[in-house]
Amino acid sequence: MILISSCLIGEEVRYDGRHQLNPTLKALVDKGKATAACPELMGGLLIPREPAEIIGGSGVDVWNNTARVVTCSGKDVTEQYKMGAKRFLEICESQNVKTVILKDNSPSCGSDAIYDGTFSGEKLNAPGVTTALLMAHGIQIFNERNFLNQTL
Ligand code: SF4
Repeated sequence: MILISSCLIGEEVRYDGRHQLNPTLKALVDKGKATAACPELMGGLLIPREPAEIIGGSGVDVWNNTARVVTCSGKDVTEQYKMGAKRFLEICESQNVKTVILKDNSPSCGSDAIYDGTFSGEKLNAPGVTTALLMAHGIQIFNERNFLNQTL
């Protein structure tokens, strides 16, 4: 089984209440080859919610307690992001998921890039909070661009 970011299959779960539908990924779910989940919702965050960025580093640094996830108004949501990541990992472990396809640029799901914590649109080449946890558990990670080269 493959686990995909919910927003990529058209679920309106993003911070702004919108989705990022990728029809190819939605088809994987429709054929029963994949399922979907949203770490931020599983961490207890709501729709809509304020945009958040990792301040002080990457998702790896969040797990090392040297970076925090903070919203644009300054609210610390690190614990919600960590909880959502742990629940996403629990799904992987309970459903024998070895491969995930995650929405890039997200502070949770980013893999090639996340925003740099300045809310200026600048990015870092670094993983988000969920991605970092999954990487540490040996799960194969793709995003909405680089999965196209794979046989899934
Ligand atoms: S990128 Fe990840 S955390 Fe953000 S809305 Fe999509 S599934 Fe949820």
